[in-house]
Amino acid sequence: MCHFIIPIFVPHMGCPHRCIFCNQRRIAGVSGSLVTQDSLEDTVKLYLRTKPKKEGMKTQIAFYGGSFTGMDLNVQESLLCSAYSFIKDGKVDSIRVSTRPDCIDPDIVSFLKAYKVGTIELGVQSMVDRVLMQSNRGHTSYDTLKAVKTISRNELELGLQIMPGLPGDTPELILHTVDRVIEMKPDFVRIYPTMVIKDTPLEELYLKGSFEPMTLDEAIDICKEALLRFKNADIPIVRVGLQPTPELEREGTIIAGPSHPSFRQLVESAIFFEMAKRLIEKCTTLDKKPTFSVNPKEYSYFCGQKNKNIAKLKERYKLKEINVMPEMGVKKGALGLLTGTSMSCIDSKELL
Ligand code: SF4
Repeated sequence: MCHFIIPIFVPHMGCPHRCIFCNQRRIAGVSGSLVTQDSLEDTVKLYLRTKPKKEGMKTQIAFYGGSFTGMDLNVQESLLCSAYSFIKDGKVDSIRVSTRPDCIDPDIVSFLKAYKVGTIELGVQSMVDRVLMQSNRGHTSYDTLKAVKTISRNELELGLQIMPGLPGDTPELILHTVDRVIEMKPDFVRIYPTMVIKDTPLEELYLKGSFEPMTLDEAIDICKEALLRFKNADIPIVRVGLQPTPELEREGTIIAGPSHPSFRQLVESAIFFEMAKRLIEKCTTLDKKPTFSVNPKEYSYFCGQKNKNIAKLKERYKLKEINVMPEMGVKKGALGLLTGTSMSCIDSKELL
């Protein structure tokens, strides 16, 4: 479903305390006054003026950057009332809120449903209690399981966010989290590799030498594995890596960590590189100028940033040239290799 999202940032509102990695004002690049009914209405009207005319596109008001259901009930109600007035006018279809697992219970979900909240996103971060504790999350993996059950029973759309690479995390624990998330059957996931953001307790740990974030290559490797597992389970991955904002891109905001403006492309390209390797190594009649075919939407994933995949494949297999044919007939997530008159194919799910 194609959504036109109207983001309303409620930085840290409702958060019972600060998780060690979090500084929403820096991440989202918002500052100043708290959201009010008036400011919400102004923002929604502004966005509605820019809404593209696309058939079937649904409009959703999304509360991000805090723990929506941890806020005082009166504040939740006043914001939801304003958002709901746009639904009654037929200008908006539904509402999305982001929150913490321990701020969900059956009563709050019924309350949200009454205001046409259609989607709840939960910050899961990890399904390992030791990792959650070290990040000062203040909840356990059991809280997440309970919250997910409540949301699923109420048939609301469910999004789960994870943060690989928190203090105490290891590749094995990250994949444990991925597998537990898959078992919870979310409608979509977001993956945010841990960054050290300015003015957070994690920055202090990093500067003291008590925390080392993943390198870019380590993050690509583990996110590649996570993506493959989510894809194999047919769970859409709506984001990999933080959304670039002018504030995030400002020098000194990200202190350390696997930051890259096109992080997802790096991960998807790593998957295509792996598929190309498998096809080449299986091929007994490979010529020096092989032709690959790929879905046009994934052409740049296959080639890699600045054609890096092509260069690496040429060097590794001593190839003279690599031809790439974008073809609608190739399904997304697959790659074909033309040899003579026959084509061999591989699907990314086969990499698992
Ligand atoms: S991670 Fe979520 S719960 Fe923790 S401080 Fe940030 S917004 Fe609040």
